[in-house]
Amino acid sequence: MKFLGSSAVPILIAAAAWAFFQLPENADTGGWFQAWYADRQRCGLLNAEEFTLYSQRVVTPDGVVPAAVHVRRGVIQWVAPSSRKPPGGRHPVLDYGTSVIMPGLVDVHMHMSEPGRTHWEGLATGTRAAAAGGFTTVVDMPLNSIPTTTTPEFLQAKLKASKGKLAIDVGFWGGLTPENGGNTTALQELLDAGVLGLKSFMCPSGSDFPQTSIDHIKAALPLLGRYGLPLLVHSELPQPLSEELSGAPQVYETYLKSRPPEWERAAISALIDAARSSPESARAHIHVVHLSDADSLPLITAARASGTKLTVETCTHYISFAAEEIGNNRTEYKCAPPIRGRANRDKLWEGLLSGQIDLLSSDHSPSPPEMKLLEEGDFLRAWGGVASTQFGLPATWTRAKERGATLEDIARWWSTKPAELAQLKNKGSIEAGKDADFVIWDPEAVHTISKDTIQFKNKLTPYEGMQVTGKVEHTFVRGQLVHSQGRFASPVCGEPIVAFTPRMAFTGAVPT
Ligand SMILES: [Zn+2]
Repeated sequence: MKFLGSSAVPILIAAAAWAFFQLPENADTGGWFQAWYADRQRCGLLNAEEFTLYSQRVVTPDGVVPAAVHVRRGVIQWVAPSSRKPPGGRHPVLDYGTSVIMPGLVDVHMHMSEPGRTHWEGLATGTRAAAAGGFTTVVDMPLNSIPTTTTPEFLQAKLKASKGKLAIDVGFWGGLTPENGGNTTALQELLDAGVLGLKSFMCPSGSDFPQTSIDHIKAALPLLGRYGLPLLVHSELPQPLSEELSGAPQVYETYLKSRPPEWERAAISALIDAARSSPESARAHIHVVHLSDADSLPLITAARASGTKLTVETCTHYISFAAEEIGNNRTEYKCAPPIRGRANRDKLWEGLLSGQIDLLSSDHSPSPPEMKLLEEGDFLRAWGGVASTQFGLPATWTRAKERGATLEDIARWWSTKPAELAQLKNKGSIEAGKDADFVIWDPEAVHTISKDTIQFKNKLTPYEGMQVTGKVEHTFVRGQLVHSQGRFASPVCGEPIVAFTPRMAFTGAVPT
């Protein structure tokens, strides 16, 4: 290179880089620079950018079948039903036997509390726990962090805090509050900054995130309708209690009576009225988060039948636990709305199985254990939030299979529908062209949830000691093995999702 002179070297490097980035993403050149570049980008516990997964049970949109799934550069290239493992060739074939390969789980409701409250949770611990639970994408709620995600600057603070910490992919909901509620320009700026939708509260949130009035919601709906982004609502509208609250605060029943199901019904009715208040509002998608009251479902179903764009989630704790089973002082079960009785739990399951409830979420909302006031056991004053990411899949499956649910139901509740809500078009199913996001798990493995396996920061959880069926073995995010049998990729492989853009192009075809 001497004859070119030393100043030519940077020019040559720049020219090579320019030539590389001019290549179409599906260019199959196999050139040395591309290989070197791909190698630099590789992350995770598996040292291969192209490989095939095989299992007797792959959950596809066409059913649960024995199949091979070929991955290249983070994208599913083809899915081929096959009763036999494909032969090995240039690329590794990973045979998972009878373990289930399912689309990676998507949790649209998680509080990671960073920046500002990393003693509650954190982006590193929260996403690592989610990865251990088979989640490949989570969407962070705008509250419990300081600042709350209510402006473009505050979203930037989240993105800055995310650097080098995300074990999986993370999107962000923005907050609709009284400060930005009547201000279309402020809301537009927040939506333009890349949040996946907005979240608001119709009751006090319990932290420094203020509740919105139905007028703020009504004002925001036309804008959200134009953007095609959802409004997520904590749907409890406080009403006067029918009888004065009495009873010891250490008894769960006392807390349960303080937040009756009528609050949920009042909120949902008000939301339906808001959606119907104008043709522009009717275009907006409203999503009821963490429904606890199953008797609200007929309201929702009737509104949907008449064209209102309304979806609803419930959480693992509402379908796992029941009020009758919560002992005195057990404030780790406290959340809002409250976990209700057994009969209500049965009806929530019916709602899930019939499709009246669209999807599941964790509402992972931890706090330092002292905020749970365990010694006093005061349900009325303790922090309301259940820590649960990591256990969503086994907790759901344990109850679901008793009720005749299938693996496809689990994939619908935990992957397909949540990805649809957050409009993650490349996620949520195992199909050619989608991100290679997978959870590989054993649905027959029985085990007890123990503290030493918990990856989230504060280990207090009502799931500790629960015997569950179903064990997560491996988690892939965009083709990167980020978690395998309790081991985690380092450095981490997750990326923030800001106004989703399609990733690497689909290049393959199903082999004939
Ligand atoms: Zn929440």
